[in-house]
Amino acid sequence: MGETPRSEMFDDVYFSAENGAEETRHVFLDGNNLPAAWQGKRRFAIGETGFGTGLNFLLAWELFDRTAESGAFLDFVSVEKYPLTPEAIREGLSPWAERLQPYLGRMLAQYPMRVPGFHRMVFDQRVALTLIFDDANAALPEIEGSVDAWFLDGFTPAKNPDMWTRGVFNEMARLSHSGATFATFTAAGFVKRGLREAGFTVEKRKGFGPKRDMLAGFFEGAEMRDAASPKTVHILGAGLAGCSAAYVLRQYGIEAVLHDPHGIAAGASGNPVGIVNPRLSAFRTPESDFYTAAFAQAGRTLPSLGAGYVQCGALHIAVDEEKDARFARAAENWGWGNQMRRLAPQEASEIAGVAIDKNALFLPGAAQVDPAALCRAYARGFDVEVGAAPEGAVVLLANGAAAARGLPIHTVRGQITLVRANAQSAKIKTNIGYGGYISAPVNGLHAVGATFQKWMTEMAARDEDDTANLKKLEEHIAGLGLSEIAGHRAALRTASQDRFPVIGEMDGRYVSTAHGSHGIASTLAGAHAIADMLRGGIRSLGKSTLKKLAPQRFEERESRKSAKKA
Ligand code: SAM
Repeated sequence: MGETPRSEMFDDVYFSAENGAEETRHVFLDGNNLPAAWQGKRRFAIGETGFGTGLNFLLAWELFDRTAESGAFLDFVSVEKYPLTPEAIREGLSPWAERLQPYLGRMLAQYPMRVPGFHRMVFDQRVALTLIFDDANAALPEIEGSVDAWFLDGFTPAKNPDMWTRGVFNEMARLSHSGATFATFTAAGFVKRGLREAGFTVEKRKGFGPKRDMLAGFFEGAEMRDAASPKTVHILGAGLAGCSAAYVLRQYGIEAVLHDPHGIAAGASGNPVGIVNPRLSAFRTPESDFYTAAFAQAGRTLPSLGAGYVQCGALHIAVDEEKDARFARAAENWGWGNQMRRLAPQEASEIAGVAIDKNALFLPGAAQVDPAALCRAYARGFDVEVGAAPEGAVVLLANGAAAARGLPIHTVRGQITLVRANAQSAKIKTNIGYGGYISAPVNGLHAVGATFQKWMTEMAARDEDDTANLKKLEEHIAGLGLSEIAGHRAALRTASQDRFPVIGEMDGRYVSTAHGSHGIASTLAGAHAIADMLRGGIRSLGKSTLKKLAPQRFEERESRKSAKKA
């Protein structure tokens, strides 16, 4: 039997190695009247404080699998301030390794990079896990959705009072509908009072094993509204936004038909090399949280799709002092730990494989992929039609600038240049950014890009753009001597006025566009967000982030401006 996992910081155990599974059943499952509570429901949501090893999640999933009706869907949303490594989880759960298979293996295969914010995993078209790596007090206000049952599982309140706050109880109430239940192992007086004040009816029950009491109860509030999710969605646009949406919707049991007069990946998504990268900013904001979630999601989703995915990292050269300062702040504020490292020139050069004479920011989890092949991999097994969507269909607009419908979005022309690697450049081990970028070599070629021409719609590749791409490269990484151009491609990306994607619902249609230069990761995260809106489940992203993504934001900004003037 493994050792009981213990937290040094809180001087408390995660659960008892002897009977942790029994305790979960008694306190959280029985305490919330499961499985009876989910019978007859198409959708059920559990909220948890303190994910730890995921033992509670895994046992709830196993029970749901055994007892819920076919077609029923479980949302499990959990917060965790100090995420464990996958190795620590495996070790901690070793007493139940056999019992928890195949669930444990599937969870660990998708377990997110340990960076702050929202992380969505989907299993078997039937279970969505939303893991939020943050303090419970910061994470709960960001959850959007409706919860049916709560597992309150922090460490003992006396040792971990920060997790048992009025703010946490009030957020639980906000997310609960009438009849929602909760259960917790503790019977601490201030927890009981806090839950009562927040509107829960609280009763003492017999605790587990030697513990005399525990608490359980329910919420009286507004009735839940529950709309059925559509069976099929018609997606206009078969680029990254559309193809990733088809692929992701199917994970939730929603079918899709793609519509594109030009076929798969005809536009900006058709480039042969793309870099999976977040858009970097100095502070942690709702926008940076989007790129963090999207980047982590791409990192655990894309490797299994093939499409030339190579996790070779990305090195961002601090080309001037302002950039250097911004990178320093990003590394400090984003909370990515060793997934975002500031490097001096010497170390940057070692990682790059060629001489870099400035500081840099290195993202070891960044990758390159073939976006056109990725679109095809996403779209495998879906119909792609050239005609329009049928009348009355549920529609997702994923067709770039054509999705504008009055929104302030525009195109930005980008040309990439493919150059043949030489002896010197073949040493490049990672993607390198400097305003432009050069990819690590793939099949003896580097992609060098990309121009940024907001005013131009010329689709043919231009020689002067190749020259500009290579000149910029030479300015920042001297002495590569790359000159043998092997190809090029120009396309129009779509961007919005505030340079952030547009993802949400608008006039009865759904939209995912304006992914700009970060579309590989951002379209994938957008696809999960759209899936949640369609099915009415717990959202895969935080409330503040979704607000920044919403198509309504431009109008709201305008009306705020005119209110100020008046
Ligand atoms: N449910 C877990 C399981 O199945 O393994 C056990 C949870 S353990 C008793 C409590 C968890 O709460 C720990 O993983 C701890 O890191 C986390 N935690 C402590 N303080 C927190 C806070 N303020 N916000 C979010 N999580 C916190």
